[in-house]
Amino acid sequence: MKVVVLGAGVIGISTAYELACDGHDVIVVDRCEDVALETSNANGGQLSSDHGEPLAAPGVIRKAIKWLGKHDAPLLYRLRLDPQLWSWTLQFMSNCKDPLFWDNAAHILRLSLYSRQRIRDILARETIAFDRLSTGILTLYHNDKDFNVALNNVQSMKELGSVREILDRKGCIEHEPALEFSSAPISGGIFTPNDESGDCYLFTKALAECCRRRGVQFQFNTTVTTIERKDWRVKSVQTDKGPIEADVYVLALGSYSPLFVQELGLNLPIYPAKGYSVTVPVKDDTKAPKTSITSKDYKLVFSRLGNKLRVAGMLEFNGYDTNLDASRARVVLENALKLFPRAADRDHAEFWTGLRPQTPDSVPILGRARQENLVLNTGHGMLGWTMAMGSARIAADLAAHRAPEIDVDGFGWERFA
Ligand SMILES: Cc1cc2nc3c(=O)[nH]c(=O)nc-3n(C[C@H](O)[C@H](O)[C@H](O)COP(=O)(O)OP(=O)(O)OC[C@H]3O[C@@H](n4cnc5c(N)ncnc54)[C@H](O)[C@@H]3O)c2cc1C
Repeated sequence: MKVVVLGAGVIGISTAYELACDGHDVIVVDRCEDVALETSNANGGQLSSDHGEPLAAPGVIRKAIKWLGKHDAPLLYRLRLDPQLWSWTLQFMSNCKDPLFWDNAAHILRLSLYSRQRIRDILARETIAFDRLSTGILTLYHNDKDFNVALNNVQSMKELGSVREILDRKGCIEHEPALEFSSAPISGGIFTPNDESGDCYLFTKALAECCRRRGVQFQFNTTVTTIERKDWRVKSVQTDKGPIEADVYVLALGSYSPLFVQELGLNLPIYPAKGYSVTVPVKDDTKAPKTSITSKDYKLVFSRLGNKLRVAGMLEFNGYDTNLDASRARVVLENALKLFPRAADRDHAEFWTGLRPQTPDSVPILGRARQENLVLNTGHGMLGWTMAMGSARIAADLAAHRAPEIDVDGFGWERFA
């Protein structure tokens, strides 16, 4: 079977890999000159399968209102005349309630834990170097109120399959001694020992090489313009380099996915949620974290990538604006240095920004479109790398009309119809 994968981010490449393993003829199309040059390029580096908490959570709206208009807020919502944003926001708000929050958490955890199993299987047979660290993730709480809310959720998350340990301040520092120098208060933490971290770009690039060895072809510098249908099937994909025809098509265009399916009768509620990352050389090894960290108050994630420290954060709802706002990027750096003051060489910081393809419920859109030969694998939001390999296996199964290994109820576009 000939399959065209649209998009060469971590989702597109992992899907191409699974399809090639199944023996299909695969072509990957992307407008960039190589793989992982957009959102999958310099993300937070966490493989946080045991996390699973959706962005739409009880209490989030109250916090978002408090942050309105604050330029350094971790969540910035720019009021604009954008029907896509308004409709997304209404759907987001309806997901911030208790029963839905837990349904969404269950979906995310199921897919993330499956993805962890898949990535480990792949790493056992392919040589992929990506500054991998299997030292768990420590989530820090800087005030008692938020820590107590998190403690209330621990049991429910465990019942959904997440492995987590509660740590007091002393326990956090024992796990990550570099926290001793933190100028930020620490109320406690939750440690997920099976989580990992690494460089998503290096991983995607190396996996693309594995794809090449399995016969996958790449068509870079090629912009998709429309997806053409005939009756209830996709007939071809139009690009600026001409049409491409295949038996099956996989949509993995990240934040841009919804723009290409409206004419196919699909309204995918994926909104670009801009984030920033800073990568800094480690100055003093004893003062830089070796465990991947999530800071709940500062809304930051830290990953040690070799002799560098990657810090990522910020959520900005402002359409498809890809400009790097230097002042917001600097807030990421300054807040990171409050936790690890003498860890990194701030003069050599590299800043980056990317658009998370965010659904209102934080669950990706994974399933067949109205056209049975179009598979949707998109909308992975804040956890795209974490969920990539499981999503890829499921997409390959759907392409072949095979039942996926995990229950995919609740992942399709139909939930928004
Ligand atoms: C600041 C930040 C921190 C993050 N941290 C983490 C983390 O720690 N852990 C985690 O799991 N996830 C994290 N994420 C999320 C993760 O990076 C994304 O979910 C993931 O990269 C999305 O992958 P993708 O392949 O869907 O999208 P992309 O990587 O954006 O790939 C889409 C591809 O489609 C191509 N494309 C788009 N339009 C067209 C067109 N018209 N024609 C041709 N090609 C086109 C683009 O060039 C691009 O290569 C973070 C994201 C951000 C922004």
